[in-house]
Amino acid sequence: MSGFAIIYWITGVIAVIPDLDKLIELQQTDTNLRRLKKQLDTATERRAEIEQEFEQHASSIREIQNRRDSIQATRADLEKQIAENKTYLERAERNLKHAQNQKEYETAMRETDALQKQIAAFETQIVEGMEEAESVEKELVDRKDEIDSLDAKRTAALTEFDAELAKERAEFEAETKHREEAFATLPDRLASVYNRLAQRSRDGIAVAEVVNGSCSACYMQLRPQVQLEVKKGDEIITCESCTRILYMRNREAEASA
Ligand SMILES: [Zn+2]
Repeated sequence: MSGFAIIYWITGVIAVIPDLDKLIELQQTDTNLRRLKKQLDTATERRAEIEQEFEQHASSIREIQNRRDSIQATRADLEKQIAENKTYLERAERNLKHAQNQKEYETAMRETDALQKQIAAFETQIVEGMEEAESVEKELVDRKDEIDSLDAKRTAALTEFDAELAKERAEFEAETKHREEAFATLPDRLASVYNRLAQRSRDGIAVAEVVNGSCSACYMQLRPQVQLEVKKGDEIITCESCTRILYMRNREAEASA
């Protein structure tokens, strides 16, 4: 009965049921406060993650759009060069028609030939680029809804996040106030025991539920006698392993009350 003895020694009084209920309530409030604090502490990072996710999405779309723009620019450039070469070709053909001698004729012939080959080569490049242009255009058409709704989705996601955060902030404030009030109703010595236990453990747990006969904080299997005493619930019983205050849901005292 060392656990009980410790509490008895510290409190100097046998704590009664209402105090155990207060302790359980305080623990639930503190656990909730820890959860909320973690949420609030990580809010900036979590918001940035949402923004980053949408930014990645937007940048993958921009990449396709840039590729489409670049394909279009290449094609426009090829068409411009073809048009220029066709002007040269017309001139070369005129020269060919009006050649005064063999030398002029041969020069014009060579020029015509070279320009025709050049134009054909540019035209081949245009045809070769068409397949890629089509696949890029198709991708943009397929993803049109997604592209058009991306900004709205981003705004909606951030608005939802901000609303949730505002709710958590309000809850944190309310729970902080509730905690102060609940703590103030505890007998001084029990309050200091609670604080000592809560501050000592990394998870802030001072009051642990007994689940399947074990302390839910340190997982130590409790002796049957200890389990019985916790179940009776008319004294404050502590875990013999981690010294946390133990309780059971549906205690006998509560059930008979
Ligand atoms: Zn324990």
